[in-house]
Amino acid sequence: MRTVLITGANRGIGLEFVRQYAVDGWRVLACSRHPAASDALNNLAVQYADLIAVYALDVEKPEQIENLSQMLSNEVIDLLINNAGIYPSERVNDFGRTDYEAWVRAFQVNTMAPLKIAESLIMQVARSNLKMIVTLTSKMGSIADNHRGGSYVYRSSKAAVNIVMKSMAIDLKPTGITAVLLHPGWVRTDMGGPNGLISVEQSVTGMRDVISHLTLADSGKFYAFDGQTIPW
Ligand code: NDP
Repeated sequence: MRTVLITGANRGIGLEFVRQYAVDGWRVLACSRHPAASDALNNLAVQYADLIAVYALDVEKPEQIENLSQMLSNEVIDLLINNAGIYPSERVNDFGRTDYEAWVRAFQVNTMAPLKIAESLIMQVARSNLKMIVTLTSKMGSIADNHRGGSYVYRSSKAAVNIVMKSMAIDLKPTGITAVLLHPGWVRTDMGGPNGLISVEQSVTGMRDVISHLTLADSGKFYAFDGQTIPW
């Protein structure tokens, strides 16, 4: 039986990852910032009681990441999905509105946390046969794809996580760990809004298909949910 750990698992894309992997018979370690307030996730955990375990994790707090790693010290994690992310409000995201605090926070959640989580759970991933780390980034972090400007904070935090994960992929390749960046598409979630082009079901189905075909040769690459390669 495979095991997947997912951050930001209480809503949006993260919750759909939990649902689809559980339906597929995977064990799911579902991390949520506020488990007591995660009704949809808790309902799924009741429905798949033998497969889903819910853990508290605020990815902004490195000490919580370290505690989780301690708690899971004997686990084998086949697939780690860094999904949790924030899109800062337009009040702090555009030209003329630079706000150091908001920018640092976006970097903590979108850039630093994925690396800290990978560092802290590396032994659990290394123990598995699959050895995969997937980080949700965005096409908005692609410099080549930036034709519209704006969104300084979000774009820079995702461009930064791209280079961070590229380095990690190179550093971890000798250990057989595959680390990949995935763009989920423009998805109808709280973050993507109602005009998003695809549903969470379509996005996660596509990403799971991409993940299922990954090999070590793909490590350090940047793919969209439909398998297309995205330019840096
Ligand atoms: P949502 O805003 O719908 O959900 C975000 C999730 O991240 C929530 O579970 C939220 O938890 C969690 N989260 C935020 N901050 C923290 C934190 N400090 N600690 C733990 N969890 C946290 O976003 P999506 O589901 O749409 O996005 C998922 C990922 O996909 C993100 O990384 C996003 O950047 C990326 N993405 C999304 C796109 C889209 O169109 N939707 C497009 C491109 C990329 P809580 O409920 O506690 O806030």
